[in-house]
Amino acid sequence: MMTKRPKTLPSVTPNAGVESAYRKELVGMVDDLHRSMATEVLRGMKNTGLAQDGPVDILNGIINRVADSLLSRLNRVAERMAERFISSVMQNADVSLFASMREAGLIVKMTMTEEMADAYDAVRAENVALIKSIPEQYHRQVEVLVNESVARGRDLKYLADELHKRYDITRRRAEFIARDQNDKATSTLTAARQRQQGFTHGEWMHSHAGKEPRQSHVRANGKTFELAKGMKINDEWIMPGQLINCRCTWQPIIPF
Ligand SMILES: [Zn+2]
Repeated sequence: MMTKRPKTLPSVTPNAGVESAYRKELVGMVDDLHRSMATEVLRGMKNTGLAQDGPVDILNGIINRVADSLLSRLNRVAERMAERFISSVMQNADVSLFASMREAGLIVKMTMTEEMADAYDAVRAENVALIKSIPEQYHRQVEVLVNESVARGRDLKYLADELHKRYDITRRRAEFIARDQNDKATSTLTAARQRQQGFTHGEWMHSHAGKEPRQSHVRANGKTFELAKGMKINDEWIMPGQLINCRCTWQPIIPF
């Protein structure tokens, strides 16, 4: 009996293990940031006493000193973190695609194209910028909080509470970045890799995972689109998995 060749290959989905390792690193960075910043700032507040002149400058001096050393260290960490993350996204996407190609009897070409290198550099650069934005944003917010707390007569309780709220928000943002970047990078790198392997089209697959699915993405389910362009949805050419909280994927159509 002849086995019928499949029309498509299974979709490459974002790897949960990669996301969780990356999330741990990002959250670790936020913890580190909060510990150093909050401790130094609160200590600085206590030590500068109640003198009328100068303390705000002294405090800002403390914040900037802590921030300078932290930010320059975290900037270096960001480069390595992004490199590690993006290369494991690519590795996982490749392993998954290659396995399904071999299973379907297709030959895997192990070369790297310029398009792939460009896609890799682009997702990496976006990722570095996002990682760096976490401590930068946090630093600006701490400055605002300290000035507010001085204006309220050095309300240390207020400051400690607000620093903690800021930490929670920053931590949630880091968690969001981990998921969002994993989805996006998987989508971008997979499309480039599939094109390198000779695939030209995909079939959109809605994830049915979100609580409030985009109706336009539900309607896109099962429709064919060009991997080089994506699908035109709401006047925008997009790929599955690129928009915020979009868990859509696609199945590459076997062109041979
Ligand atoms: Zn979607």
